[in-house]
Amino acid sequence: MSILNADLHSHSVVSDGTLTPEALAARAAANGVELWSLTDHDEIGGQHRALAAARAHGMKYLTGTEISVSFAGQTVHIVGLGFDVDDEEMHRGLVTVRGGRDARAREMAEGLAKVGIKDAYEGALKYVSNPELVSRTHFARFLVESGVCRDTYDVFGRFLTEGKPGYVEHKWATLRDAVRWITRAGGMAVIAHPARYRFTPNEEYALFTEFKAHGGSGVEVVTGSHTQAEYVVYAEAAREYALAASRGSDFHSPEESRTDLGALPFLPGALTPVWEALAARIL
Ligand code: AMP
Ligand code: MN
Ligand code: MN
Ligand code: MN
Repeated sequence: MSILNADLHSHSVVSDGTLTPEALAARAAANGVELWSLTDHDEIGGQHRALAAARAHGMKYLTGTEISVSFAGQTVHIVGLGFDVDDEEMHRGLVTVRGGRDARAREMAEGLAKVGIKDAYEGALKYVSNPELVSRTHFARFLVESGVCRDTYDVFGRFLTEGKPGYVEHKWATLRDAVRWITRAGGMAVIAHPARYRFTPNEEYALFTEFKAHGGSGVEVVTGSHTQAEYVVYAEAAREYALAASRGSDFHSPEESRTDLGALPFLPGALTPVWEALAARIL
């Protein structure tokens, strides 16, 4: 099996993307993706549609999700690939993670109201397709459309990150639970976009070692959220921690995303791609 163009990180309207699973599959196929995964945040409701659409376009498919985890005072994302979508424990776990989102969104709106932005909860909901999955991205779209901010990056910087008026501390899944749900369902746990966290070297070491101790075995190296210099840093980390390497655009929307589906450099040759370890799980 010699797959090069694997895109194992993307979002649909089932979480905070703007395209349907079908439209994403068509776009991925048009961009030459050979192996695809839809990895909606804390949600696997789009998996059957994604698989059917992948098949219709002749692409191979790995089941996927991106689980929100709280670790050392920050939010870390763990991508799960190749798990059984009917696994009960995984289902229950994701229901719990999603459960806190609505209350969080209402609290975010209260924070925004204090700086004069009215009805942000209702505003964000207009962009939400899955009522269990209100995310900061939906608030960002509302703030752009209503003219408060220039683009979504501007929104995050001014309103939705730590210390800003619309930011709410939140308790997500534990690292241990997220990795266990994925691996017990037959899948592989992968640390998403490691360069995006603001960990000290000690905290990052703790993340990687605890992740491995819980059974995690992959890390994203080439992702739309990394710079070229960061590819090199995390290629080295993959070797150092003996983790398989993943590649994914983290595509959300044609209007907002800087990296299109499948449009990334290939993985450095010296690394073991996650899809080799997951060969038996490819659909
Ligand atoms: P949430 O899961 O509600 O905390 O929302 C997280 C999502 O917001 C991420 O998956 C990204 O899609 C988006 N996001 C986070 N930080 C930024 C940022 N600085 N700029 C643009 N989008 C961001
Ligand atoms: Mn997102
Ligand atoms: Mn993420
Ligand atoms: Mn993502």
